[in-house]
Amino acid sequence: MELSSRVKQTKGSITLKVNERVSEIAQSGKHVYNMTSGQLPFKPSSEFVEVIKKQLNFLKSYQYSPVAGMKPLRAKFQEHFEHRRQVSFAKADCDVDCIISNGSKHSLYNVFGALIDPGDEVILLTPFWVSYPEMVKFWGGVPVVVKSHAFDAYTPNIEEMRKAITNKTKAIILNSPNNPAGIYYTDQWMKNFAEFLKDYPDLTVISDELYSELYYYDPKPTYFYQHDISLLKQTVIIDGISKSFASTGLRIGFCLAQKELTYAMAKIQSQTTSGPNSLIQRALIEFDFSLLDHYFDPVKEQLRECAQIIRMAFRDANLPHCFYQTNSGFYYLLDFSRMPFFNHLDHEVEDHSDQIVEDILEKTGVALVPGSSFGYPNSARMSMTLEVAPFKEAMGKLIEYIARK
Ligand code: PMP
Repeated sequence: MELSSRVKQTKGSITLKVNERVSEIAQSGKHVYNMTSGQLPFKPSSEFVEVIKKQLNFLKSYQYSPVAGMKPLRAKFQEHFEHRRQVSFAKADCDVDCIISNGSKHSLYNVFGALIDPGDEVILLTPFWVSYPEMVKFWGGVPVVVKSHAFDAYTPNIEEMRKAITNKTKAIILNSPNNPAGIYYTDQWMKNFAEFLKDYPDLTVISDELYSELYYYDPKPTYFYQHDISLLKQTVIIDGISKSFASTGLRIGFCLAQKELTYAMAKIQSQTTSGPNSLIQRALIEFDFSLLDHYFDPVKEQLRECAQIIRMAFRDANLPHCFYQTNSGFYYLLDFSRMPFFNHLDHEVEDHSDQIVEDILEKTGVALVPGSSFGYPNSARMSMTLEVAPFKEAMGKLIEYIARK
């Protein structure tokens, strides 16, 4: 069987591969500190679980949903967004609509499908979420990468972004708070970005805000369009319930954008997956979102503790220059190139991430995700989702490895 060239050039998700390796090692009887997870180890709020249970009794919960999602939920997501961000689409004179999909990954896939013609360029900022470049390429687009650095707390330079723009640039993807860096861009950065966008009215900004509720130090993340509401017209908002409702497996994501785009996305959705999960949409219509206002308080407490453990571990190992302060999401990106052990490696080779991550797993039992897939060579993503005690243990083992001279 000859597979398509399109699928042959698509890389499978790195996290799946890593998890297979972790299972192998665990089966051999060795203890593994699994720091690869892309989800929180917490059940959704009990009130949310209760409304899902109630909806189990209705026939409509088991039947097709409208392709773009159920109208009351689309309106509710829009209202919720406007309330949380303190913006109004009407005031921005923006003919907006909401389309619900099977997870925000699916929303992104539809956005690229509706926007990209072969050869169109999409700007990605490193470190980026693994799926962006693969999805862009899948639709025939060309990812153009703008690099950021650990010593800038992984925040990209706006002038570098300007240099990356050509007459083929279609869109730029912003992901703040960022997976895998665990930071959000500052309000000043967002203000500068809003200023920058005034020079590019035809540039579409895809703002992936999946982690917006998961900040564990104040103030909460802000966005460029809050500085200039007219920018909402060129913005595509991506969000969902995977992280903010701790419900990765329920597969609900949504997109808020100009109607022209959401209609095009609905066309793709109508010929591929149809509407999203009816049971969960019905439960979300019933559920009072404000019940989640304090749901994350204990989670945030744990994330702060883990962030503090990382800080202390680097400080105690005399490696403060390897530390940067995270504030959101639940990841930390280790930049190996700044660490003592890295001097032993062949510097002619551009990226050692896979080899280092494999070696760390073998020698310490700590499982990480290699950073090569995040567009940041010689790095690895560490999830802060273990409980505090095992997290501290794992961090101790990791630091011992890293600090070797
Ligand atoms: N965007 C980012 C930045 C993510 O980290 C993820 C999932 N880890 C997604 C989108 C997709 O999430 P989902 O499809 O579960 O909504």
